Amino acid sequence: MRKPVIAGNWKLFKTTGEAVELIHSLVSLVNGITDVEIVIAPVFTVLGTAKAALAGSAIQLAAQDCFWEQEGAYTGEISPKMLTDVGCSHVIIGHSERRQFFGETDETVNKKLKAALAGNLTTIFCIGETLAERESENTFEVLERQITEGLAGIKVTDPHRLIIAYEPVWAIGTGKTASENQAQEVHAFIRNLLTKLYDKSIAEKMRILYGGSVKPDNINGLMSQPDIDGALVGGASLKADSFASIVRFA
Ligand code: PEP
Repeated sequence: MRKPVIAGNWKLFKTTGEAVELIHSLVSLVNGITDVEIVIAPVFTVLGTAKAALAGSAIQLAAQDCFWEQEGAYTGEISPKMLTDVGCSHVIIGHSERRQFFGETDETVNKKLKAALAGNLTTIFCIGETLAERESENTFEVLERQITEGLAGIKVTDPHRLIIAYEPVWAIGTGKTASENQAQEVHAFIRNLLTKLYDKSIAEKMRILYGGSVKPDNINGLMSQPDIDGALVGGASLKADSFASIVRFA
């Protein structure tokens, strides 16, 4: 039985005061929920304050990215070691916005995944095809490349600490969601690929999240699919009531 994960990616939103307000509302709305792994990913500058505001709550803290070295002369970077130090348990790696705007490649994603896992962070590894790639029928080829290159040389010792997030780029922030069937088809493909790369027992334990315009009104359909184990939520995670409704999917 895979424990569902609902993770909120706050992107470049919420100052410290706004974040604390959102966390306080969220904590009371999701209080008592233990059967879902609830994660929020604020901006770096808010992480310490967010950790304090989450005290006593089951909500876990993620960063939106990290560097592949633990320390050194790397001006402007944040390492897994710094993230655990500030109270993060999770980190998002390879989000399509990082790939699109900040030059992330399968190779840098692979280095970051290795460092994050070695640094004891639960890692949310994002993959997804663009609209052009889907329309040219290259979806599965692109995903296979992202997964095999992203996970190259990575041994999975604890399948709970490596989470895949399938986020079709054309569905992120656009209001367009993959249909339940479209998403399930891809998730089954990913699980099958994980079985080939690792083994069935590991693949069956790994959580595969869907991301791309997830809202309270489409979460139930998505979660009814056998290979969808949760969601990575952008826009709808910025309001306590919509994120809590997603967490409370039926
Ligand atoms: C995301 O940022 O990962 C995301 C899926 O965004 P949205 O839910 O706004 O599409």
